[in-house]
Amino acid sequence: MSNVRNVIIIGSGPAGYTAAVYAARAELKPLVFEGSITAGGALMNTTEVENFPGFPDGIMGPELMDNMRKQAERFGAELLPEDVTEVDLTATPKVVKAGDQTFHARTVIIATGSGYRKLGVPGEEEFSGRGTSWCATCDGFFFREQDIAVVGGGDTAMEEAIFLTRFARSVTVIHRRDQLRASKILQERAFANEKISFVWNSEVTEVLGDTRVNAVRLRNRVTGEESTLDVSGLFIAIGHDPRVELFKGQLDLDEEGYLKVDSPSTRTNLPGVFACGDVVDHTYRQAVTAAGTGCAAALDAERYLAELA
Ligand code: FAD
Repeated sequence: MSNVRNVIIIGSGPAGYTAAVYAARAELKPLVFEGSITAGGALMNTTEVENFPGFPDGIMGPELMDNMRKQAERFGAELLPEDVTEVDLTATPKVVKAGDQTFHARTVIIATGSGYRKLGVPGEEEFSGRGTSWCATCDGFFFREQDIAVVGGGDTAMEEAIFLTRFARSVTVIHRRDQLRASKILQERAFANEKISFVWNSEVTEVLGDTRVNAVRLRNRVTGEESTLDVSGLFIAIGHDPRVELFKGQLDLDEEGYLKVDSPSTRTNLPGVFACGDVVDHTYRQAVTAAGTGCAAALDAERYLAELA
C-alpha cells in the first residue's frame, strides 16, 4: 500500500502539538488532525496561562498554542484542520478517516483531550450561546450588570463564579450537595465575595427562556421542592468528559471512561496506538503534563517504528 504514514496524531492541544514537534524532529513526518472547530485545544478558551514553564510573565493561551503549532510546522509536521470521524486501529496499517478521505498509518497517537460535561436537561443545548455557557473567560463579558448562575461545587465552578463577579450584578452558585468540593482557598474567596450567594442541595432540571435564558428551574434534592431562579445566564462547571467516542470498542477504557495506557508509557492495548494528554489523565489535567505525555507518546511511537523496521 502506498502513502502509509509513519505517525498520525489526532488532536491539537499541548499533547498533540508536542507529540508533533518530537515526531517531526525525528523525521517521521507526522500528519496532525487538529479538529475543525477547536484547533489548539482547551487553552484557546482561556486568557492568561501563568504556570506553563518558560514564561515568567505568563502568556495568553491562544498565543501559547500558536507558538506550539508553529514549532511543530517548523520541523515538518503536516497539519490538517479537520475532524477524524472514524478509525480502525486494529487494521494493519491503521485506518483513519476524516469525512470521505481515508488515511493509513503505522502508528496513531491519540490526543483528543476532554470536553465540558453537560447537564443533559431541557433548554441547555437550545440556549447555548444565548445564555448557557461552559466558559466564563469566553462569555463572562456579555453578562455585565446581570444576574447569573453557576452550576457546580469544584475548583472550576468557584474560579468561574469569582471571575464572573467582575461583570455580573450577582452570581448564584447552584450545587447539588450541602458543601463544596473546591479547595479551601477558593471556598474562602467565594464565601467572602459579596456578589456570590449559594443554593445548596439543588439541581437544575430545566433552562427556561424565550429567545434567551431568563430563568432556571431547580429541584431541591432533599425536600423535592421545585422553584425557579430568575437569571439571564447559566454557566455550567461540572467537569469534563474525555473524548473517547471514536475509540470505544477498540481501545480499553479505565473505570472513569478515560483511555487506558500502560503507564508510565503511553501504550494502549493495541500495538502501535499511543494516547496522551487529558484523554488519558483525570488526575493532573494541566497543559504541561499534557505536553509531557505528548512527548512520551512520540518517543514511544518512534521506538515502536524502529522495532518494526
Ligand atoms: P486539549 O487541549 O483538550 O486538545 C484536544 C484537541 O483535540 C482539541 O484541539 C480538539 O479539537 C482535538 N480533537 C478532539 N477530537 C478530535 C477529532 N475527532 N479529530 C481531530 N481533532 C480532535 N492548564 C494549565 O496548565 N494552566 C492553565 O492556566 C489552564 N487554564 C485552563 C483554562 C480553561 C478555561 C480550560 C478549559 C483548561 C485550562 N487548563 C490549564 C487545562 C489545559 O488546558 C488542559 O490540561 C490541556 O489543554 C490538555 O491538553 P490536551 O492536548 O490533552 O487536550
